[in-house]
Amino acid sequence: MHQGAGSMKRIGVLGLQGAVQEHLDMLRQIGEIEACMVKYKADVENIDGLIIPGGESTAIGRLLSDFDLTVPLKARIENGMPVWGTCAGMILLARNISNDERRHLEVMDIEVMRNGYGRQLDSFKTTVDIPAVSAQKVPLVFIRAPYVVDISPQVEVLLSLDGHIVACRQKNMLATSFHPELTGDLSFHKYFADMI
Ligand code: GLN
Repeated sequence: MHQGAGSMKRIGVLGLQGAVQEHLDMLRQIGEIEACMVKYKADVENIDGLIIPGGESTAIGRLLSDFDLTVPLKARIENGMPVWGTCAGMILLARNISNDERRHLEVMDIEVMRNGYGRQLDSFKTTVDIPAVSAQKVPLVFIRAPYVVDISPQVEVLLSLDGHIVACRQKNMLATSFHPELTGDLSFHKYFADMI
């Protein structure tokens, strides 16, 4: 592990495509955290946790393999490194994707539906109670979001919305359908930092 006694937690944000800067800004607001962009193989060894941002899962997945990151990232996650996938990041973590033949990191025992909300509800905002994550109501932003349609017993549901799982955790892995980095609310970033 990179994290030595007394040193700050170093959290990486996968910086290939998508909402990268927004996550870095949120992490820096928490304080006591070193936030850095992860783009190359060597970066993967120098982090204590990783956020995979929203964007376009097909593009991020292709770049992961072009940059030779799929194998080393998968290995670190399987060895227990905390990881959090938001939106497209959730799709990249999933072992199964209902409506896509592509597979990416395949580390989390969830099956997701890409663009689950379809056309009418393409993007929307809401506010919810998630006691496991925050004592206050948490604002959520969904943008062409996936949701989880199936989980294994190892996966803990943190939030369901209208019958769809939109936040869940399996040991060191956290997946959310929505984008906390676009709300100004630090609850989820703090929750993830506490997983490290
Ligand atoms: N719809 C995108 C995909 O399937 C995810 C959207 C997002 O990350 N905001 O990859």
